[in-house]
Amino acid sequence: MKPQKIGAYEITRVAEIDRMGVDPKFLFGNVTPEIIAANRGWLGPVFIEPDDKLVLSFHTFVIRTKHHVILVDTCNGNDKRRPSMMAWDGLKTPYLENLAAAGVRPEDVDYVMCTHLHTDHVGWNTRLVDGKWVPTFPRAKYLMAKTEFDYFNTVHQSNPPQPVNRGSFIDSVLPIVEHGRAVMVDTDHVLEGADGNGIWLVHAPGHTPGGVQIRVGARDRLAVLSGDIIHHPLQLAEPTLSNPADVDPAVAVKTKLKLMNECADSGLTLLTGHFPDPTAGQVTRHGERFRFRFQGD
Ligand SMILES: [Zn+2]
Repeated sequence: MKPQKIGAYEITRVAEIDRMGVDPKFLFGNVTPEIIAANRGWLGPVFIEPDDKLVLSFHTFVIRTKHHVILVDTCNGNDKRRPSMMAWDGLKTPYLENLAAAGVRPEDVDYVMCTHLHTDHVGWNTRLVDGKWVPTFPRAKYLMAKTEFDYFNTVHQSNPPQPVNRGSFIDSVLPIVEHGRAVMVDTDHVLEGADGNGIWLVHAPGHTPGGVQIRVGARDRLAVLSGDIIHHPLQLAEPTLSNPADVDPAVAVKTKLKLMNECADSGLTLLTGHFPDPTAGQVTRHGERFRFRFQGD
């Protein structure tokens, strides 16, 4: 992805896992081979592999402002035990080296903001040092939407049979709180500037209760870091495709359609949590449905 210049802000993408093909049913419980066949042409091999696997990326967006370095979403993390999802178990990726290549050392980071608290968005919040999970970014304030944290904390405290979010609440979220690095914010929190000209959050319920999109705007341009509101562009053709992790599938579809319509009407730059490189692009209308076009295509 080319660095995105939005007024005084710059957004770059740093990958943890550049491309991973996943089983369509893992991503969308209600997908069919017919849906994939009907959309393979416009999506192409960047999004659908020859064996029908749907391609995801796991990446962080780095937002640089005049005064701050902000990370949005921290992928899966290294050394995490994820027995319920072997593709993310015990990873050893060069994520910190990739961040360094983009000019970001852990001590440079001022804010970490996760769009939501699922395991593939919080992983690098912490790293393993002498057998303990410690904040990876030692100076950073980790902003968490209070409704999101409270929801998963309540589930965690009820002693569920499976650890919350595949174990990531315990190894990647709670240590941040215990080290005093968490800052709980509202889902309409403003990080810098003001709505429309700055960096601010917009509530995005459905996939999780307190999920947020992060908006970076200047006078003439708006980018939306949309997390998992849209997982894969197949959902632009079939907005009712539902991710099994959606806490409220009907609300998730509503949130998705609202964003797609806004994107198509305004031409804003969409930066999703999982679209592979070059990632950034625009949503366009296609009859009653939508399409995605990479920037510059
Ligand atoms: Zn995700």
